Amino acid sequence: MKLATGTTVISNGTLFVGTDSPPIPNAAVVIKDGKIVFAGPEKNAPTIEPDAEKIDALGGTILPGLVEAHFHPTYFDVAALEDLDIKYPVEYVTLLAAANAKLALECGYTAARSGGSLFNIDVWLKKAIECGISSGPRLVASGREICGVGGLMDWNPDFRKIGMDGLVLLINGADEARAAVRKLVKDGVEWVKTYPTGDAASPDLNDHHTLCMTFEEMNAVVATAHNHGLKVTGHCRANEGIKNALRAGYDAIEHGTFMDNEALDLLLKRNVPCVPALYFEYASIEHGPKYGMPKSVIDGHKETLEAGAESARMILLAGGRLGMGGDYGFAWNPHGDYARELTFFVNYVGLNSHTVLQCATRTGAEIMGLENEIGTVEAGKLADILIVDGDVLKDISILENKSKFIAVIQGGVIKAGRLAVNKVR
Ligand SMILES: [Zn+2]
Repeated sequence: MKLATGTTVISNGTLFVGTDSPPIPNAAVVIKDGKIVFAGPEKNAPTIEPDAEKIDALGGTILPGLVEAHFHPTYFDVAALEDLDIKYPVEYVTLLAAANAKLALECGYTAARSGGSLFNIDVWLKKAIECGISSGPRLVASGREICGVGGLMDWNPDFRKIGMDGLVLLINGADEARAAVRKLVKDGVEWVKTYPTGDAASPDLNDHHTLCMTFEEMNAVVATAHNHGLKVTGHCRANEGIKNALRAGYDAIEHGTFMDNEALDLLLKRNVPCVPALYFEYASIEHGPKYGMPKSVIDGHKETLEAGAESARMILLAGGRLGMGGDYGFAWNPHGDYARELTFFVNYVGLNSHTVLQCATRTGAEIMGLENEIGTVEAGKLADILIVDGDVLKDISILENKSKFIAVIQGGVIKAGRLAVNKVR
């Protein structure tokens, strides 16, 4: 991604660095050629050339750009299973994905890890964003997902004779698991997304306590992926599925809903991050009835929500890591609502805003494997920065309102926010 040229100084704001250190009032951030060269109290800032660009944070908050750690760029207004794969042709879904990425950036998300995408769209979307053809978060791509035949993501009945071609690679046994990963290697993905377990969305055949892949299949996925330098994650709700994934060597866990102490020990042993994606459950319970969601599904989401919240608290309390992100793109949980996840973790799960912001920035960058480049506002890192008109640490819900964004900055370039709008004028 192209970096800015010249010097920019951000001042008159409180700096949330993204580390454990407390926020710095009256801070300044100096950016040179797209990288941060100083971040700290304004009185300690180096002398700046008079022609440097100056940004007034208006007494608000300066923080690292947010990281969406479970982003489905190709989901759009999904209200039924078919909407995930056969509603629109791939050409149109590609355009929708580009629009979703642009929106995510406008919402302050300067980076995102894909949690799976139709066909190989996220791989090419990432390329378009890196080349500057499209705007959006820095992406890490996952492409198609892997699921066992008859599992959660294998819903098209055989009589339709269309399989699940664009969305998932269906496997039976370790050999097919290896073959699926090898396809993804060729596609150019960086994370392999799998389905070790079912979900409340499928109460009859693949509910949240059902396994959708065997340990042997998961083991084959990890060995093949790691051999090619790819990372592996999985949709893990059922307790045994979480343990299978951790024992197989997964690099992250999505959801991690029904954790017990043994699963927690396995998670902590390798410090594996977990992305709970909980607001989706809440939104499903709240708005599902309007979309004809059956009671059995809503009951499953209720169970998932409470267990997921408990697991998230347990992980953080034990010193583990959580990423923030979550299945936006459903009709009742649309793209653009990403920051609701953060408010939800403060108000419903009961974490403090500093912790949640850290999960949404530094841990997100770690999950993407970009912790040396982004995720904190520190000298040496790329200038991916969000400047907000308001005290985000006091009221995290300000992040839901993009009209409060003074600037969304990627590599030192103002990409969105009020200052970007003014520039266009
Ligand atoms: Zn997902």
